[in-house]
Amino acid sequence: MLDGQLLHIDRLNISFSTENGMVHAVQDLQLQLMKGESIGIVGESGSGKSITSLAIMGLLPSNGKITEGSILYRNKQQQIQQLASLKEQQFQHLRGNEISMIFQEPMTSLNPVHTCGMQVAEVMMWHEKISFDAARKRTLQLFDQVMLPRVEEIFKSYPHQLSGGQKQRVMIAMAIACKPQLLIADEPTTALDVTVQKTILELLKSLQKEYQMGMIFITHDLGVVAQVAQKILVMYKGKTVEQGNVKDIFNAPQHPYTQGLIACKPPMHERPSRLLTVADFTSDQQAKVQVENISHQQRAQAHQQLYAGKPLLSVQDLSTVFVSKKGLIKPVTTTVHAVDHVSFDVFKGETLGLVGESGCGKSTLGVRFL
Ligand code: ADP
Ligand code: MG
Repeated sequence: MLDGQLLHIDRLNISFSTENGMVHAVQDLQLQLMKGESIGIVGESGSGKSITSLAIMGLLPSNGKITEGSILYRNKQQQIQQLASLKEQQFQHLRGNEISMIFQEPMTSLNPVHTCGMQVAEVMMWHEKISFDAARKRTLQLFDQVMLPRVEEIFKSYPHQLSGGQKQRVMIAMAIACKPQLLIADEPTTALDVTVQKTILELLKSLQKEYQMGMIFITHDLGVVAQVAQKILVMYKGKTVEQGNVKDIFNAPQHPYTQGLIACKPPMHERPSRLLTVADFTSDQQAKVQVENISHQQRAQAHQQLYAGKPLLSVQDLSTVFVSKKGLIKPVTTTVHAVDHVSFDVFKGETLGLVGESGCGKSTLGVRFL
């Protein structure tokens, strides 16, 4: 291992034994990560991204096995450890302390019957053998650092009382509590709104810099990788199809799969007559993929036809309120204006996009028409 290198994965192969025989989930993976460096692993669902990270954490499902290769890790004491053959007891010391993981769905990793604060405090009490008071104080500081509001209140809250973005912030606080050297984030923003996603990405990036953590950021979204990582590794069906620095891969992707991933993102300033898919690039009969753009004139003509008739649905000044009563002795009535004076028309053959962050009233508006 080179000086300053944190992780060195060499020819990693992972297989599962299933009823239908062996599944080779990861094949010949090579990955190197320096201290404080960030790499994005990109690939469609089922390409082996999560299995790779679970192998690093020693958390492979019981029917999965590392069949070949090695995972070298340099710990805080500068000793090099072979994670591919580490015992569970040694992993327990590493997890949360040296290597932490954030998952896509925080509810799968937060315990629903313990308060958020207690769950974070416990990690520090276990690894650093500190008192509850000291752990509580540090948890409140961490909550503050991940920009949670009303930290004392959140400490006492149960996971279900928090929004998706807040739960993910608690997870991040828990992951960084013991200042790990390596943070693995497995699709940490996939379940969140775009606006919340942006703030979480910014938070992860700034914490990574501040703590000088190595980061493996897993996603199926190339756009997200460009924001957080310096290097990219592209996986497809268990194999690495391309690896390099972010700029090179975006400017000149070499593999048809990567070219497809980049080309599939719908363009903002043009209207292709159909959207590209990865299969356009990976199928055998692919000549040069050509899709014509719809011109302004063609669009104007189509709109003229579309809007010539009467609307199919015409919504005028629609409001929906939810009234709820809380308390038995002195009930307090609260009114939520879920939809507030909304008007729009929908024409035959038209597609109307309803956009807005979580809780803004999209679904409430939609179910009015069912
Ligand atoms: P990704 O995270 O890229 O979506 P995964 O790493 O979860 O993909 O899965 C990679 C492959 O491993 C998939 O083909 C999946 O079906 C297979 N796999 C994952 N877990 C198991 C398991 N417990 N048993 C059998 N196959 C599995
Ligand atoms: Mg996954």
